[in-house]
Amino acid sequence: MGRLFGTNGVRGVVNKELTVTMVARLAASAGSILGKRIAVGRDGRTSSPMMRDAAVSGLLSAGCTVIDMGLLPTPTFQYSIKESGLSGGLMITASHNPPEFNGIKAMAGDGVEVPREMEDRIEEVYFKGGPDLATWEQVGNTVYMDVMGDYVRAVLSRVDVDAIREAGLAVALDPGNGVAALVAPRLARELGCRVFTLNAEIDGTFPGRDSEPRPDNLGGLCSLVKASGADVGVAFDGDGDRAIFVDETGRTQWGDRSFALVVREFMRRNPGSTIATPVSSSKAVSDMVEEFGGEVYWTRVGSVDVSRAMVEHGIELGGEENGGIMYGPHHPIRDGCMAMALILEIMAEEKKSLSALLSELPRYHQQKDSVPCPEERKQEALERLRSGVEAPRVETTDGVKLYYKDGSWILIRPSGTEPVFRLYAEADTPGRAHELLEEHKKSLSDVIRR
Ligand code: MG
Repeated sequence: MGRLFGTNGVRGVVNKELTVTMVARLAASAGSILGKRIAVGRDGRTSSPMMRDAAVSGLLSAGCTVIDMGLLPTPTFQYSIKESGLSGGLMITASHNPPEFNGIKAMAGDGVEVPREMEDRIEEVYFKGGPDLATWEQVGNTVYMDVMGDYVRAVLSRVDVDAIREAGLAVALDPGNGVAALVAPRLARELGCRVFTLNAEIDGTFPGRDSEPRPDNLGGLCSLVKASGADVGVAFDGDGDRAIFVDETGRTQWGDRSFALVVREFMRRNPGSTIATPVSSSKAVSDMVEEFGGEVYWTRVGSVDVSRAMVEHGIELGGEENGGIMYGPHHPIRDGCMAMALILEIMAEEKKSLSALLSELPRYHQQKDSVPCPEERKQEALERLRSGVEAPRVETTDGVKLYYKDGSWILIRPSGTEPVFRLYAEADTPGRAHELLEEHKKSLSDVIRR
């Protein structure tokens, strides 16, 4: 049996790896597992209306009632599923992938992406040819729901709106032609910010930049921050669940820097708390947690793993190095707009610039790379790697993570979406991080070749 679900839902090139026939059958299969009242939402991709219609048809054929929430960010969709007491939802999105891709993220009734075992059950039905279809009189129908206003109010209720308004911050926003354009400017204005925007027209061809925000493609936002004199820049990925921040000097900050800042503030207010984060996260995060007597719950890489750990263990804050922050009091899912509101609140309350706040955090150097490995060789290579490595501490939550005496570490894990192994190294100096990376790239290549 094949696999449909990767690290974050089902993804593929439209009309090649992912067709309307597949989506309709997948939606029907999901409906048979999730329940009778299923929300559907979509991002701004060119193929999303087509895929939305396929998903809706599939769900209706399985006898589900479809609640169509229209064009909206994934976190807005997820929050609205939970708030409306629905059985689950299917979001048509390929998140940050290139424009030729589309995909589906499946949500459970709590608005969190379905757990892995539920993905397996949906796949089982799919690969059997789909569920039993409804009889003609049991075919479902569609109702429409506008959820944007309630969502914005919910985010506002989680931060000190007065303090942020008082601070009179200026923000530069780059939704990258994605659906965050529908919410982020509105939210920032409600928070009393002066708002400058870039790439704020929804366009499924992503003409402004890649829909994955990275330091190397946020030059436009960095320039806008400097030219406008904004206090902060925020870039979102294609479906608005991740946010990357640019400080007032025009420097892009990696996701685990902004996450560590949110962690510090949260730990100050809630000392001794547990924070969930994948094993790929910076030591800056765990340092902040330990400083306030808390604990880190390390998960596998993937937002679903972090979110599900939060739900299962009642953890209130989670985050990833790619700019995903999950704020439990709102909803234990990645939410770019909630992340923006939290950072603005910290800036307002501390009355400090973002660069000053970030300079207070411990500084480590991270480097990443990947090594090609055919899908069918991954498992064997990983096992060999695990049995061959030596380090003072070895952890195998995801792939293999080696901790060294000088505080440096390296993580080597098979990608869930591409035929590669990913390597993440972190150390006090860039030289040491580079050295770790090179050494392990070599040994990994040897293991794969054998
Ligand atoms: Mg995304």
